[in-house]
Amino acid sequence: MSPTRTAVVVEDDDDIRELITHSLTMQGFEVSAAASGLAGVELVVATDPDLVTLDLGLPDLDGIEVCRRVRDVSQAYVVMISARTDEIDRLMGLEIGADDYLTKPFSPRELQARVNAMFRRPRAVRVNGSEAATDSAATTATTDARADEASRDDAPHTLVRHGRIAVDPEARIVTVDGNEADLTRTEFDLLTTLISAPRRVWSRAVLLDSLWGPGWTEEHLVEVHVGNLRRKLSRLGPAGHRAPIRTVRGVGYRMEEPDAF
Ligand code: CA
Repeated sequence: MSPTRTAVVVEDDDDIRELITHSLTMQGFEVSAAASGLAGVELVVATDPDLVTLDLGLPDLDGIEVCRRVRDVSQAYVVMISARTDEIDRLMGLEIGADDYLTKPFSPRELQARVNAMFRRPRAVRVNGSEAATDSAATTATTDARADEASRDDAPHTLVRHGRIAVDPEARIVTVDGNEADLTRTEFDLLTTLISAPRRVWSRAVLLDSLWGPGWTEEHLVEVHVGNLRRKLSRLGPAGHRAPIRTVRGVGYRMEEPDAF
């Protein structure tokens, strides 16, 4: 029923490249693989994949640079893979645009679980509309009146507004005062979720569950992505004001009343 999903695997180690390719193929992906960063970027441009797995240590470009280049040309989910846990922690703070991180060694099952979790996220709307949004929560915030007309690509998109922030869930664009924020998929999904019920306090556990899927306990992930999201929004807002995402101590996050921001 659903169209075949495609993946690009970028990994210089032959065994691991084979393992990931096999694992994703078993999961129903059509996989292309590259053994270097440059070849990987070329493959992404050529195949416009839904998923990219990216080894951090590559012989030509490092994985961070490859990730940035992939992000420039692709909306794919990106999983960064590294043998070092401390590297993963550093990467999460760098805003390089990866959606998930995996530490070597990992089992095919673990990779499959991660990939499933990413693709299950509620508002992972594909650009071509092959996966529709399943969560009606997004329409409960302030929306344009045209919202419910079955809009197609030409029709004006529904915008969800919160002060200076405007979210276009269909085009997956966020603007602050009309300037587009360069958000990762995860950051976008996080903001869309918070803004869908702006008075609600969202616990880290609930956000983790709705964005990453059930079974996750790494609440630290949510904190890191909220931090990055805030920074990116704040940059585009009025000087001296922070993005209106409040930390509710001991619980989680909620949107603040739009005031100056
Ligand atoms: Ca490597």
